[in-house]
Amino acid sequence: MKYISTRGQIAPIGFKDAVMMGLATDGGLLLPTDYPQVDRATLESWRTLSYQELAFRVIAPFADDIPAADLKDLLDRSYATFRDPAITPLIKKNGVHILELFHGPTLAFKDVALQLLGNLFEYLLKERGEKMNIVGATSGDTGSAAIYGVRGKENINIFILHPHGKTSPIQALQMTTVTDPNVFNIAVQGTFDDCQTMVKQLFSDIPFKEKHSLGAVNSINWARVLAQVVYYFYAWLRVTDSSPKEVIFSVPTGNFGDIFAGYVAKRMGLPISKLILATNENNILTRMINQGDYSTGTVVPTLSPSMDIQVASNFERYLYHLFGDDPARVRDAFAEFARSGRMEFSEAEMARVRGEFASASVNREETLATIASFKESTGYTLDPHTAVGVCAALQRAADDAEVVCLATAHPAKFGDAVRLATGSEPELPGPLQGLDTLPSRCETMDAELALIRAYVERNAI
Ligand SMILES: *Cc1c(COP(=O)(O)O)cnc(C)c1O
Repeated sequence: MKYISTRGQIAPIGFKDAVMMGLATDGGLLLPTDYPQVDRATLESWRTLSYQELAFRVIAPFADDIPAADLKDLLDRSYATFRDPAITPLIKKNGVHILELFHGPTLAFKDVALQLLGNLFEYLLKERGEKMNIVGATSGDTGSAAIYGVRGKENINIFILHPHGKTSPIQALQMTTVTDPNVFNIAVQGTFDDCQTMVKQLFSDIPFKEKHSLGAVNSINWARVLAQVVYYFYAWLRVTDSSPKEVIFSVPTGNFGDIFAGYVAKRMGLPISKLILATNENNILTRMINQGDYSTGTVVPTLSPSMDIQVASNFERYLYHLFGDDPARVRDAFAEFARSGRMEFSEAEMARVRGEFASASVNREETLATIASFKESTGYTLDPHTAVGVCAALQRAADDAEVVCLATAHPAKFGDAVRLATGSEPELPGPLQGLDTLPSRCETMDAELALIRAYVERNAI
């Protein structure tokens, strides 16, 4: 399998190089040149597979430069850290299926991808005799999932900047209680934007970036999308039997990584009739799908902070396909977007978008009401991100379809929002209990680039 850039200005590369490249060097995102097809008979033959076996079947054709035995071992180790033997179990409540993606070490769906990405990095660095220093900024969730993805791995150090006192206490503890020698937490006396700006400045200092082999774990890495394709297959196989039935997925969306994985599954032949893209008040993607209006607003803070995004980086992958796999059109559209803050679509393009996606934007009151009514009628507690997806799905009641709502975080991670909705906080699951009694390691630093730079330099592997 070869990978090309949505901007069309790199020579095709293999899977291993695509994982190491992350963002394409021409500023675009990497995509496979084609999507391997899974026919109905093959799909039926996958019903009895374990999650790990299914993951191998789905991923192997995209990663054909990794020997099968090695890929199997990477997948087995990546999902051994999950607390549920089904890895991503499903339950049915109120007529909808809930796909629980939060049984990994940090209780958010990002673990599904980052556990694999950490192992892939270690494997590829060893093969190449290279080292990597991962540097990233987090407002909460991604940081801990990234740290858990690479803790204790060889030839990798990770530096994660978070705004001191501005993440939830649990989120900070999830990061700072990882005391492996290759993990460096930096609490910055400033905002998340300060953190992000300094990380960008480090990456744009090319001699520094090259000297220390800086790497990133952001959601545009192709391996992250690919790992997420698996659970669409897994869920589809659980909610159908051999008689054909429509299946709809509802996906709480921020950076468009998770739902793009659903789109890839559909392109591979998985019979998904519709992908529902659910947003909170930060609804550029809903406006795009429903009105063809792709224009940025300002980010407003919501109860579902991991979806507080205006420009969704992975959306470029879908735009490439929407524009007929034409990289010149992608370049023009992004040049126009940079100039005017808008992008225009033809009637035919919008018809195609509406054929593939439906979308709803769910506000704060609806999110709280969904958590409350779901708890009331089923006893099951939704986290606020999942509630956005469930609310969007329930608005499209369809008796003749199986509806799968992706549950992206454990409710205890967002206890404040749950308490607002239901009057009580969900019980902390095992891994979140007693975090405050564990040893922790974190450097508190002023928001000054020179300080951060020197710290990374001192501790780089
Ligand atoms: C990251 C995240 C999302 C959004 O996923 P994208 O792939 O960015 O669209 C939704 N819910 C939770 C809990 C997340 O951490």
